[in-house]
This record gives sequence, C-alpha cells and structure tokens, in this order.
Amino acid sequence: MAAALMAAEYRCLIAACLSLLAACTLPESPMSESPPPESLMPEPTMAEPEQMIHRKPLSYELRLGERDAGAIDLVVIHCTELPDLGMARKYGERIKYQQSKTGNSGHFYVTRFGRVEQWVQPGRVAHHTAGFNERSIGIELVNRGRYPNWFHSEHQVPQEPYTEVQIEALIRLLRSLKSQYPGIRYIAGHEDLDTRKIPAEDRPEQLISRKIDPGPKFPWQQVLNAVALEPWSDHR
Ligand SMILES: [Zn+2]
Repeated sequence: MAAALMAAEYRCLIAACLSLLAACTLPESPMSESPPPESLMPEPTMAEPEQMIHRKPLSYELRLGERDAGAIDLVVIHCTELPDLGMARKYGERIKYQQSKTGNSGHFYVTRFGRVEQWVQPGRVAHHTAGFNERSIGIELVNRGRYPNWFHSEHQVPQEPYTEVQIEALIRLLRSLKSQYPGIRYIAGHEDLDTRKIPAEDRPEQLISRKIDPGPKFPWQQVLNAVALEPWSDHR
C-alpha cells in the first residue's frame, strides 16, 4: 500500500517536472507579447484614425529634462533589438546616469501588434540617440534586430521583418506627432545618426556598427510616402 502510494507520488512529481521543463523550454517567439486588448475591438472606420496611445511613464520620467515643443524638429526611428516589450521595459528602467538617476529609452514603443505606448512625454528629453536627444522624439519598434549577438561579426544583418500593423501604427503615430508638433521636419534612423564603429566581440580586428537600427528590413519608402517628413540624409 505504502509502496503504491509512493509510486503514485513519484509519478506526480515526474509529471510536474515535465510540465515545468516544457514551460521553460518553449521557444521565444513574437507571440510572447500579450495581444493588446484593443485588438478585440472593431477596426476604426475613419479615413485617418487617431492612434491610441497607452501612457506608461517610466519611473524616472519626471527627472528627465524639460523642453519647449518648438525645440523638436526630428523623429528618430529605432528598433529595440530585444525579443519583446517586457524586456525593453527592463532595459528602459535601468538607471544609467547616476547624477540624474535616469536611463536610456525612447519616448514611444510600437509592438508587433500595433500597440503604441508612451514611456516619456515628448516635452521631456529622453536618452535615445547620442548628440540628438534635445531636438528629437525617439520611437522604438519592437524587433529582435541582432539579439542576442549584437556585436558578433556573423550576426550583423537583422532577420526579423517589421509587421504591417506595426508600420501602420507607426505611420499614424508620426502623423499625429506632426500635427501636435508642427516644428517636426526630419525623420532619421538611429543608424544614420550614430555611425560609430567598434571591434566585433569575436574578432576584435573587425569593426562593426554600434547601431544598426532600424536596419535594412525597415520599409523607408512606405513610411516616407505616407508622412510629410524629410529624410535626415537629404538634409545633410
Ligand atoms: Zn536605437
């Protein structure tokens, strides 16, 4: 009797271990982002729907410097180079600047499902592009980029495409920003503004780009056709 009970307990334990193992080894996929609640709602029928923006301020938002709306003339497109929004949030919340007790982040984040979150209000200077923060709004698209081999010589070409709903949400966001901040004139990729090279981690003699976002998968022509912004590269 006791032996039978022990065997039953043993089977339970094995089953529990197996299900835990299955949970731990599930492949990470774009679906690891939980779908936004608004995906259940009917599509807006207006020709130019307003982009719904979910306000999710970073814990240090109010410690970031303030600026006038007129100081903003540039939007910088980034990708997170991380698998999901949750991990991007962890990076964003990290304190990197001890004096101001602030970190690095964009103002807006656009998920693969087209959900848009605002982590920093545009009236404050977020740290997203060295040398261009004071004048720009940073928009981060969730995309793996080179993750997790950012600086490996053989992983410099990002493979994940941007989703159509993500690009549509980005376009709505850009239009809405342009109408709210008429001083915005230019659009750039992070890779256009930060062209610094560093040694590859596996082959120090080979130099690689520190920043490659949003990268070759980003549909520049589609976005430029849809919004009245000038490419920064033409401006230079
Ligand atoms: Zn970037």
